[in-house]
Amino acid sequence: MNRLADYHIHTPRCGHASGTMEQYVEQALSLGLAEIGFSDHLFLYWLPREKREARLAMPEEQLPEYVESVLRLRERYPQIPIRLGIEADYIAGREDDLRMALGDYPWDYVYGSVHFIGEWGFDDPKHVDRYANEDIDALYRRYFELVKRGAASGIFDVMAHLDLVKKFGHRAKADPTPLYREVAAALAQAGVAVEVSTAGLRKPVGEIYPGPDLLAECARQGVPVSMASDSHSPGEVGKDYDRALAALAAAGYREVARFQGRRRTAISLDGIVM
Ligand code: ZN
Ligand code: FE
Ligand code: FE
Ligand code: ZN
Repeated sequence: MNRLADYHIHTPRCGHASGTMEQYVEQALSLGLAEIGFSDHLFLYWLPREKREARLAMPEEQLPEYVESVLRLRERYPQIPIRLGIEADYIAGREDDLRMALGDYPWDYVYGSVHFIGEWGFDDPKHVDRYANEDIDALYRRYFELVKRGAASGIFDVMAHLDLVKKFGHRAKADPTPLYREVAAALAQAGVAVEVSTAGLRKPVGEIYPGPDLLAECARQGVPVSMASDSHSPGEVGKDYDRALAALAAAGYREVARFQGRRRTAISLDGIVM
């Protein structure tokens, strides 16, 4: 047992993940993780039903069954806490629709993700061509503005993949330090955590989300941090956690967050190795 959790785990309901939920749990057990939490993609609540692409998120009618299956897994695996989470898109101006979509399920935590800038699903490989027409610095500002608004919305416990805009390797030309300061301040002010996600290592950018400078700024401003793989297949659970621990240490973090019933507690990182 190593006291660490992996809170960002998908299921095939989202249309782009593989494996059974049991396989994800078994992988967590075999790594000796202390907790696992599912956080599949919430249905695309802000779009009319006919525009909700099945390859991006679960259909709306599967949400109750998703919740039930997580709760049922707890009975099957009493040896590891299994948390109920969800990954929800933040769409500015649609906060009430999102609150409604989340309903009153017994969430342990809700992830806020910015995957859309306007109508553009900018992290979708299908739409990557559009970066060529963008002013990258302006794009970074628009992206992080949405992250800040999402954090301030009060809807989320954790912001997912905080610097996702870098996914395909597009880097700001201007110094992003002022932006990073603003984002960290917004998270700190809102009491929202950030995740250290190893998923970025498996993307063209080849870097943990958030990158070292942004993570250090979060640490400096006292933003709590959780750990995650953003697994879309069972073998990705807990992946590269040694590198995540190194990134946390370099940024100055001494503890990580755990979630239960939307309440956050802190676990010391002292003496944990992977
Ligand atoms: Zn996904
Ligand atoms: Fe995401
Ligand atoms: Fe995810
Ligand atoms: Zn994700």
